[in-house]
Amino acid sequence: MVTFTIKQFKSILNVYKYIDSWFWAKYSVNGYNGCQFGCIYCDSRSAKYHLPADFENDIIVKDQPGAMLDQRLAHARTLRPDVVAMSGANDPYQPAEKKFENTLACAKVLAKHRYPVHICTKSPLVLRDVNVYQQIARDTWCAISVTITTQDTDVARFLEPRAPTPQQRLDTIRSIKQQAPEINSGVLLMPIIPELTDAVAQLDQLVAAAKDVGADYVIFSPGLTMRDVQADWFLKHLMRHYPNLMPRFEQLYKFDHRNPAYHGQYNPTGDYLLRISEQMLDICASHKMPYRIKRFLPRDERRLNYQIAEILLNKAYELQIQGKSWQDMHWAGIHLHEMKQSVDTLYAMGELNSLRNVTPIVEKEIVEVLGRIVKKTVIDEYKIR
Ligand code: SF4
Repeated sequence: MVTFTIKQFKSILNVYKYIDSWFWAKYSVNGYNGCQFGCIYCDSRSAKYHLPADFENDIIVKDQPGAMLDQRLAHARTLRPDVVAMSGANDPYQPAEKKFENTLACAKVLAKHRYPVHICTKSPLVLRDVNVYQQIARDTWCAISVTITTQDTDVARFLEPRAPTPQQRLDTIRSIKQQAPEINSGVLLMPIIPELTDAVAQLDQLVAAAKDVGADYVIFSPGLTMRDVQADWFLKHLMRHYPNLMPRFEQLYKFDHRNPAYHGQYNPTGDYLLRISEQMLDICASHKMPYRIKRFLPRDERRLNYQIAEILLNKAYELQIQGKSWQDMHWAGIHLHEMKQSVDTLYAMGELNSLRNVTPIVEKEIVEVLGRIVKKTVIDEYKIR
């Protein structure tokens, strides 16, 4: 039986040190702790979240999150509107939301203060609030990403025992795009779980289905991450339902399941990650399906930096999944995003390489990107050393 405990919290808005380059979020807001959907792979079971391993039965409902968020944003002198992720260690549209409406309360406040929003969910309940998100999309930017790991209903029931069916989730994207095409909506194909959801035909079918419902993107993440309590929980269920798969997991994650606690790798082996990424890139290309989300671009002096940061971070992602060196490209994008000064000023002064992580290769990339964005006259003045 699920119990709900209403609890007061001291703060409601988390401010990230650096932007999240997958979901483009700078902030996060959660109306709940714990998640009724109870996915057996959920990373929220990891020790760092300090939640009970059976957190699907013990839901903490935050008291008055909308009012708290309103206060916080109304008095925020140093905060500027940027993407707020509504997800984290819970699904913002888990069944509790039907009754408590914490997510809706926060969404209305974010709409009022004109903050862009990214929702990650597995639930059609998000459709209840589509008007609020449509308004946010018109005013700033909004993305609703729906997680679908497989279309196989038996495997989905094993992995995500209390979540809506894969078809309900696909239908949710279709409805969002029909009702509010301004909202970015697509599939989070993550995690891709070895042996259970990683067959090429399965992945291809899922991307085709996403295309069919009008998804704007499919974001994928090869390989399940595994650590401490979460890994123990997942492997306990795997052993019960698919014991034949255990040797393959031991090989991919380098552990011995007979040990009492998990001591294997966080990610599967590199060759596995590369193979799945390569397959996904081919599949997305064959369906002309983007695998990154178009980011929020503010209509103020930050715009150019954000545009260039997006391109650098997308490039870094591609390098990473191809097993190439990506760190400088990534960190240059992150620092450029946070920079107060506009990049074209730095560029005109010939000082791009004073930015952290801007190596000659990254500098060349920035110059090329600027070349596509700013006036040609400025480019001609610039001399690459
Ligand atoms: S829906 Fe998301 S947060 Fe909830 S249990 Fe599943 S993976 Fe975890």
